[in-house]
Amino acid sequence: MDLARALEPVLDAARENASDVDTNSRFPHEAVAALRESGLCGLTVPSEAGGMGCGPEELVTAVARIAAACGSTAMVYLMHVSATMTVAAAPPSGQPKLLEQLADGTALGTLAFSETGSRSHFWAPTSQARADGATVELAAPKSFVTSAGHADVYIVSTLQPAATSAESPGVDIYAIPGDRSGVTTAGSWQGLGLRGNASAPMRFELETGDGDRLGAAGGGFALMLEAVLPWFNLGNAAVSLGFAKAAVDAAIRHASGARLEHLDESLAQLPTIRAQLSRMSLDLAATEAYLGAAARSIAAPDDATTLHVLGAKAYANDAALRITDAAMRVCGGAAFSHHLQLERFFRDARAGSVMAPTADVLYDLYGRALAGLALFEN
Ligand SMILES: Cc1cc2nc3c(=O)[nH]c(=O)nc-3n(C[C@H](O)[C@H](O)[C@H](O)COP(=O)(O)OP(=O)(O)OC[C@H]3O[C@@H](n4cnc5c(N)ncnc54)[C@H](O)[C@@H]3O)c2cc1C
Repeated sequence: MDLARALEPVLDAARENASDVDTNSRFPHEAVAALRESGLCGLTVPSEAGGMGCGPEELVTAVARIAAACGSTAMVYLMHVSATMTVAAAPPSGQPKLLEQLADGTALGTLAFSETGSRSHFWAPTSQARADGATVELAAPKSFVTSAGHADVYIVSTLQPAATSAESPGVDIYAIPGDRSGVTTAGSWQGLGLRGNASAPMRFELETGDGDRLGAAGGGFALMLEAVLPWFNLGNAAVSLGFAKAAVDAAIRHASGARLEHLDESLAQLPTIRAQLSRMSLDLAATEAYLGAAARSIAAPDDATTLHVLGAKAYANDAALRITDAAMRVCGGAAFSHHLQLERFFRDARAGSVMAPTADVLYDLYGRALAGLALFEN
């Protein structure tokens, strides 16, 4: 399938509704409906499992382009891809059609990992399931879930039921359909940025079991590192890249067009403005090149893949902060009005670095990898 052609209707719907989605903090239904129809829900799913069979490089292209049109749509899409690739790595035995449904857009997925107790340390849920024979009772309050109340399936983490041995419980991950009783959205989302992505708190209080579990009992932590992190980190970096690109484009357009009539000059004729534009463009080019290298390394793993998985998100998140900030300065007071859309990209770009794993945590992990230390210590 032609990626550019598949993206067209999604980008149209995203662009058309982005401002309304942001202003009214509403879910981007139109663009998500277009995504479901486009085939892109299965972008990275192998073709034999009903997907488009594309890889990390195409993911960066698709997500960055969607982010430049509507950040909320891009984040909803990225959480779907992350959920989908986790299911692809370890399909739950009791839901044999789930991967196909995620790939063909029948089911929208998302990750429900973060909890109030462990905050951004998503790898360490504090909620714990209880075992009652073969039944597992979930009692998992989640602090932020993108697409809360809109997703068809939630990929939920929790601690295993208390072990009878002295071993500390591992993490389990379950695929929980949104229409099960006991799945509730426990608040609303009024964010500074990504105002349409419905990242509200949720509660999962229900009975589940082995048939819903992804991977082996207690295998959730390994699944997070091996299946979730490469796709989520790279895709989240691509969202940041999309904001940075959109901000550079908007700043160049504005600086080239806005006039100082008394001098008969455009803003771009001011050397300081040109220097800012140059720095932003070079920062963008370096970020894009690095994400390209990271995507290729994740597609065909090599010695640097772990570093790229850890580095791509932190680098791109911070680049988007720098670039959107500079774009706001270049465009002056005009940047505060909605017509340039810059202030939206500026606000949306704030989310990347605090989404877990946060940029600061990733810098620490990257340093650990550089120094040959274990990434996580017990
Ligand atoms: C828009 C948005 C969408 C989201 N969507 C989802 C979702 O779909 N699913 C989901 O599970 N979660 C989601 N989250 C939650 C997100 O992943 C984080 O868990 C959340 O943003 C953390 O916020 P906090 O206040 O708990 O941060 P805290 O953990 O309190 O962090 C505060 C600061 O401390 C720093 N810090 C914390 N630990 C360390 C450390 N070890 N080393 C260095 N610095 C550290 C952080 O980097 C941060 O700067 C979303 C969040 C946002 C903002």
